[in-house]
Amino acid sequence: MSTSQEPMPARQPASLSPSRASDFMQCPLLYRFRVIDRLPEKPSEAATRGTLVHAVLERLFDAPAAERTAPRAKALIPGQWDRLLENRPELSELFDADEGGEQLSRWLGEAESLVERWFSLEDPTRLEPAEREMFVETELESGLRLRGVIDRVDVAPTGEVRIVDYKTGKAPRPEYSEGALFQMKFYALVIWRLKQVVPRRLQLVYLGSGDVLTYDPVPADLERIERKLLALWEAIRLATETGDWRPRPTKLCGWCDHQAVCPEFGGTPPVYPLSISPADSPEDGQGRMGPDRM
Ligand code: SF4
Repeated sequence: MSTSQEPMPARQPASLSPSRASDFMQCPLLYRFRVIDRLPEKPSEAATRGTLVHAVLERLFDAPAAERTAPRAKALIPGQWDRLLENRPELSELFDADEGGEQLSRWLGEAESLVERWFSLEDPTRLEPAEREMFVETELESGLRLRGVIDRVDVAPTGEVRIVDYKTGKAPRPEYSEGALFQMKFYALVIWRLKQVVPRRLQLVYLGSGDVLTYDPVPADLERIERKLLALWEAIRLATETGDWRPRPTKLCGWCDHQAVCPEFGGTPPVYPLSISPADSPEDGQGRMGPDRM
């Protein structure tokens, strides 16, 4: 008979998104807390601002090309914030202590600046995206399912595909650009498998620093990323079976919500599930890039 003291069986995660793959590479224990234990995390101002800015940039393309101006984009912010709050009422916690409303107006002002900066990097009056906030999912021959959400897909009249992702943080230093491109190559692999077209260009638009990072992939890049994902998946499968989820402390621990249950910080993780049930659920909602939404 089951009691509330007994741990639930762990589920072998069913698919991989760029965000969760990055979690595992950063720290296997963090992956476990997010995917297996599903521990709650506090909303953060930075990540929520990222979500808001993404929503505004997406909605702006509803307007006719000539009307996609910075004032119009900024005017969308209050409505999109209300919509976000409607869908995720817990976000209002962010401003619970903000009696005079100053914190909220500063935060909204920062979102405005990010939206405004976009206009110095791209010209939406000259863009007609083929897709916005596109959910993609594919299954590789090995059975590994990849999924995620692509901010924007542009298709040229010649059929060439460009994948675009907005970042509200700053561009990484050149020596770290490979990590930033991981997510984009992941998406390129998914598009390649889905549509049999290797995207011509991958483009990261950094609104925090006003930089654009591009990369033109070739099939060998995507084959390499596929091998990397398969190796990662095998490591995740092994950790799920054995329960051996190692903490990997780095300076990113400062952003981790789970220090209280992390052995590196004197905590004890929840009891690990005793048995593993077959994969039967998606690993993480829509597969968004968590940390990069800042
Ligand atoms: S605090 Fe650091 S080591 Fe511990 S789970 Fe979080 S990221 Fe991993």
